[in-house]
Amino acid sequence: MFDSIKKILTPKENEATLSYGQKADIVREKSAELYQKAKQYFPGGVNSPVRAFKSVYGTPLFIQKGDGCRIWDADGNEFIDFCASWGPLILGHNNAKVREKVIEVMQNGMSFGAPTALENQLAELILKNNKYIEKIRFTSSGTEAVMSAIRLARGVTKRDKIIKFEGCYHGHLDALLVKAGSGLVTFGETSSAGIPKAVADETIVVALNDKEALLAAFEQFDGQIAAIIIEPVPANNGLILQEKEFLAFVRELCTQHNCLLIFDEVISGFRIGFEGAAGYYNIKPDIITYGKIIGGGLPVGAYGASAAIMAHISPEGAVYQAGTLSGNPVAMAAGIAQVTELLKFGFYKDLNNKTFEFAQSIERYAVAKNYKLKVFTIGSIFWIAFTDKDAISASADILPESMDKFKLMHRELLNRGIYFGPSGYEVAFISAAHTKVDLEKAKRAIFESLDLVFKK
Ligand SMILES: *Cc1c(COP(=O)(O)O)cnc(C)c1O
Repeated sequence: MFDSIKKILTPKENEATLSYGQKADIVREKSAELYQKAKQYFPGGVNSPVRAFKSVYGTPLFIQKGDGCRIWDADGNEFIDFCASWGPLILGHNNAKVREKVIEVMQNGMSFGAPTALENQLAELILKNNKYIEKIRFTSSGTEAVMSAIRLARGVTKRDKIIKFEGCYHGHLDALLVKAGSGLVTFGETSSAGIPKAVADETIVVALNDKEALLAAFEQFDGQIAAIIIEPVPANNGLILQEKEFLAFVRELCTQHNCLLIFDEVISGFRIGFEGAAGYYNIKPDIITYGKIIGGGLPVGAYGASAAIMAHISPEGAVYQAGTLSGNPVAMAAGIAQVTELLKFGFYKDLNNKTFEFAQSIERYAVAKNYKLKVFTIGSIFWIAFTDKDAISASADILPESMDKFKLMHRELLNRGIYFGPSGYEVAFISAAHTKVDLEKAKRAIFESLDLVFKK
């Protein structure tokens, strides 16, 4: 029934293929044209793989404009957006406070390669309100933050091996591109080409929520492990929520073995609360990495730790790490404006309640209709999983077949003006800009889409 969609149909042709209840496909002429061009310039037509719509119907939508919770594509289609640029836009698109601060700062120039007061301001906003880190360093992406955190852990412990968890994504650095997140799972790969064996050999991969495997790893490699890195809220391969008890176990294990615990909070930081997952679970890791929200939509990453650990970073210490555009004033301005909003009283309570209610009502609908579906949620993150399991605590619990249903839903949602990231392994985000009315509209579209997905 959906096979005809693989080629782009004209709206007329398309209507002829519709079955009952289906909506006509949105027009993607301009997007398709732009995509053809992009394919001449970029590998796969994109500058980051998951954007390519490989695992959903049609060609990628080229976005022209965003405002509040909405985006518009090159053909003028309007969508309520749940991708939020993959997480950064917790205030929604084109937030006036962020935009105005950026414009104000840009009047004075874009980059100096010398310190500015703006770096102090963003650091102060963060450090004064986060008891888990004492010092911070800004980078230009989450990947860079993680890469630097790994080097720092190795520099501090003078050991080489890193433990990571299957299904956790930490950016595209060599050492951690082993059994990582959605972009890789979606393409049916567990790793990337081009990673030296010697590098991969220093990475030990264990399943999430598997204490035995961790103990075995420490038995085998005791004295060689520099750090355990984990997404405390694993949200790059579905939403694989962990019990606090497991995270506490990991913390304890690191302490026992004198290795460092790195929380990769590039996605959960400033998202599930101002202090991220560390604050949510009240567990103190040794190093925390941030990105996404911290830059208000501009490229900023960061890593932080105690003053003692951060003293190992150059020029204070022997661990080198640098960046031509690190702490860039325009990016700092966006971060300052966004983080300031997050600190306002009740910000997270409102946002998180709104998300919880939204997730609950989708799940209630599924239960009433007897659909095999769960909505996992934490903070303002949610993930629609086509499963009947009550909990998904490791990536092996996610059945690849369940992605077929996501693919059908994704198309129906686009046709109803709802934009989700183009992979069933990706989580969705609610922003402060989503109003009750927007969410009601989105719910109706989701219900209709699910009716079609489960219609047999
Ligand atoms: C997005 C993400 C990264 C990578 O950040 P980039 O800015 O894309 O380099 C690393 N870790 C986690 C947990 C992420 O969600």
